Amino acid sequence: MTARPPPQDGDAAEATQRLFFALWPQPDLQRRLHALAHASLHGTGGRLVSPENLHLTLVFLGGTGRDCRRCLEAAAGRVRTGRFSLQLDVAGYWPRPDAGWFGCSQPPGKLLDLVAALQAGAGGCGVDLQTRPYAAHVTVVRRPVHPPGAVTIAPVEWPVDTFVLAESQSRPDGVHYRPLRAWPL
Ligand code: ATP
Ligand code: MG
Repeated sequence: MTARPPPQDGDAAEATQRLFFALWPQPDLQRRLHALAHASLHGTGGRLVSPENLHLTLVFLGGTGRDCRRCLEAAAGRVRTGRFSLQLDVAGYWPRPDAGWFGCSQPPGKLLDLVAALQAGAGGCGVDLQTRPYAAHVTVVRRPVHPPGAVTIAPVEWPVDTFVLAESQSRPDGVHYRPLRAWPL
């Protein structure tokens, strides 16, 4: 009987990753969004999301094995829905997951096309997609003590020319997100 070789360093940890497709703001935009969240939502209490964690989820994929990740990356490489610009112009709160967010009152058609194309790609890779309607948002504060009502905010323009596959990692100091790979639109 042949013994299996021991796993290489990192193999076990990399076998399943918690993944999602997202739009990732450039660092300067992450800092601006964080500052805006501080100015407009700090008074609500809760914990502001750190600048480097700020993102807009396109499709949540969940626990993903290596083969599925390869399939998702190939599918992402076939998506070309075109560049667009987002306007974040509203702030709101959802009791579940107990978070305050910035969102767009009028999501651009190309954003919805991108989401639909990635959902189709993910479905083709066997990902079990959630059925609730898509709501474009950037979570900016968690567990506010005084949840904010829906308010309009001074619009933040976000020119979008790439999307990413990102990983979510739970660590003792909280959740960390990291873009793994980007594709042009
Ligand atoms: P945690 O679950 O640890 O409280 P989180 O929800 O921010 O933190 P993940 O659950 O890993 O982290 O989610 C990664 C990203 O995907 C986040 O932007 C999250 O809002 C989004 N997301 C998670 N679950 C879903 C879902 N079922 N549908 C849509 N987006 C989701
Ligand atoms: Mg979650």
